[in-house]
Amino acid sequence: MPKERLFGTDGVRGIVNQWLTPENALRLGLAIGSYFNQGAKILVGNDSRAGNAFILNAVVSALVSTGIRVFYAGPVPTPALQLYVKNHDFDAGIMITASHNPPEYSGIKVILSDGVEAPREVEEAIEETYHELRFRRVHWSLLGYDVKRVDDVNTFYVESIINHLDIDSISKKNLKVVVDGANNVGSLTTPQLLRRLGVKVLTVNCDLSHMPYREPEPTPDSLNELSLIVRSVGADLGIAHDGDADRAVFIDEKGNVLLGDRVGVLLCEYVLINKGLNIPKKVVTAISSSTIVEEVLSKYGVNVIWTKVGSINIARTMMKEGAFLGFEENGGFIYGLHQYVRDGGMTAGLMVEYLAKSGLRLSELYNRLPSMYTIKTKVSIDRGDRGKIVEIVKHKLTEMFHSDLIMDIDGIKVINPDYWILVRPSGTEPLIRIFIEARNKELANRLLSTVINIIHGAS
Ligand code: MG
Repeated sequence: MPKERLFGTDGVRGIVNQWLTPENALRLGLAIGSYFNQGAKILVGNDSRAGNAFILNAVVSALVSTGIRVFYAGPVPTPALQLYVKNHDFDAGIMITASHNPPEYSGIKVILSDGVEAPREVEEAIEETYHELRFRRVHWSLLGYDVKRVDDVNTFYVESIINHLDIDSISKKNLKVVVDGANNVGSLTTPQLLRRLGVKVLTVNCDLSHMPYREPEPTPDSLNELSLIVRSVGADLGIAHDGDADRAVFIDEKGNVLLGDRVGVLLCEYVLINKGLNIPKKVVTAISSSTIVEEVLSKYGVNVIWTKVGSINIARTMMKEGAFLGFEENGGFIYGLHQYVRDGGMTAGLMVEYLAKSGLRLSELYNRLPSMYTIKTKVSIDRGDRGKIVEIVKHKLTEMFHSDLIMDIDGIKVINPDYWILVRPSGTEPLIRIFIEARNKELANRLLSTVINIIHGAS
């Protein structure tokens, strides 16, 4: 029987005190510690989720026992920890977080010395050690008696972002911004960052809590309250993070929650055309982004490179292709000039700089993009293999839409000037995800029922 896979698309995740118990956290910590060399320096940070007090301490205990020199960063955004690891002499980083997952989850994520998430082969080696219980136990005389504290991770992050921005142009505009930190670590950096840039900041859900007032995933539903506040205080912009603040989702001055792939297009347009940087005109995005990415950016001669879903695929492709810009439709934006990871603080900084320099309202910038009616939905697969079902869907859609462009790098994407459809199996849950955009609502709904009928016929 195959051994249980622990790492999903972005670290190990589990419900606290169900799978993610002190015992499992300790065992995973021992496996991670045994993977790195004895004496390696690892920086550990956490977000403010329930249960992190025991998960953090279990992981730290395990690392110390395997002979790792452990440094503790405190509560920090994931991108702040990643930046610190990359720029200081660390062999790895570990972040205790479940990112955007519901509040009952937490997780453990491994970062390599370049600041980027560990690739699958490292995860596989750790999983093998975990299952086989082959842990390194170090002689007592080689163990220390304390864990060193690193206090400047958040300050270093904020200062580093400021170095990439034009503070004078931003501060002249007196922008007013509402920040929603999801009662988690983004609250420790984004308000400070914006105030340093001369922005007037109001905060909501910016106290750290193990019981957040809103779902950690920033979606139009979870941001309803923020959207009302932005409108009622006459703010220029609302910024909402997920639990570990690697994502930033924006709300325009009218209270509309903006889609991440459109925001990605706006920021790429800004950086490549208006920011005055001499960097290659290349942008990397996942197949789940809208076809308008290419429609808009190709006008500027930008080469759009498509990847499988998952920020690690985008980041690694950016590095390979020499691209400095990449994004996902969920609000994850990667600015390679800063670091090759999703970076909520940097994204927020770029957006306020764009607003300040353009002199336009965010809704004006956004509404210049071609409009499409968007449907994002999922179908639960109670029985049967979701991968096989998607293969059948692939076959049927290829037959039905044979005159359209078909891409199959992750599930199937059908592309036509008037619509596009993406059907892919979820990487972590028993679900099939469906993304549809069309020039009008009727067409989008018609395409959706076609896809759903095929899935039901196949399952
Ligand atoms: Mg996240």
